[in-house]
Amino acid sequence: MLKAIDMHAHIYTGDRAKQQLAKAGVPSATGHRRITPDEMAEMYQRLEMRAVIFDVDQETRTGLKISNAETAGWMKKYPKTFIGYGSVDPWKGKAAVDEVGRCADMGLRGMKFQQATQAFEPSNKRFFPIYEACVRLNLPIIFHTGTTAIGAGTAGGGGLLLEYCRPIPYIDRVAAWYPELRIIMAHPAWPWHDEQLAVMRHKANVYMDLSGWAPKYFPESVVQNANTLIQDKVFFGSDFPVLTPERWLSEFAALPIKDTVRPKILLHNAAKFLGLDLSAS
Ligand SMILES: [Zn+2]
Repeated sequence: MLKAIDMHAHIYTGDRAKQQLAKAGVPSATGHRRITPDEMAEMYQRLEMRAVIFDVDQETRTGLKISNAETAGWMKKYPKTFIGYGSVDPWKGKAAVDEVGRCADMGLRGMKFQQATQAFEPSNKRFFPIYEACVRLNLPIIFHTGTTAIGAGTAGGGGLLLEYCRPIPYIDRVAAWYPELRIIMAHPAWPWHDEQLAVMRHKANVYMDLSGWAPKYFPESVVQNANTLIQDKVFFGSDFPVLTPERWLSEFAALPIKDTVRPKILLHNAAKFLGLDLSAS
């Protein structure tokens, strides 16, 4: 029986798969070795979970190529475990828009952006054609929000700008201008989590996942709102391999979340968002 859906797990494709071991700046605080998508599938199957998987195309900034076809391939190999999201580098212009279409053709179910590593301001109109394609193809978008571990502690933070990851104004604007677009804000958006909660409460087309932070460090206002006003719009996410689902779940169990709300966060909100029929799993 399906116990939970992890709405946020990273895989590495293309050049990134080849270089993943050597790559500097990727979060590795847990000390877990990188595991392959095959091993990930086995882990999620053992845990009786499904997972949304993706890579992030940041080729303009880093030169590394990813492969949405590989993500789609992993989903096809493990259709009962993986739900693949695609990624495009927004600086690629028309090629990025075309790639969104290819992602939909390959069966990928949404798109993932990381504005710090992709170095873009989400509400700039040059990126609107990408959002329009997502609306047309009914692909939700995951935007990173809050600080990032990538580049953390290095001089200049690796040149990454955190400001692009602010819920207000950026996510708020995109959500207002594209009400048909479903947006997931990834992570408790510290230090802007209260702005994030305002957007969550104000815009029905905006959701959030609780990935990337060990639950014992969740800001109190996030826990309180997840337990009450936004309980139907919050998802479990680990941000694997940054955190393992097991660690996330064990700390989540210790939070003061109502028994009626826990299954929503772990499973039912995500199933509804993804259009999964739980009676069939
Ligand atoms: Zn992530």
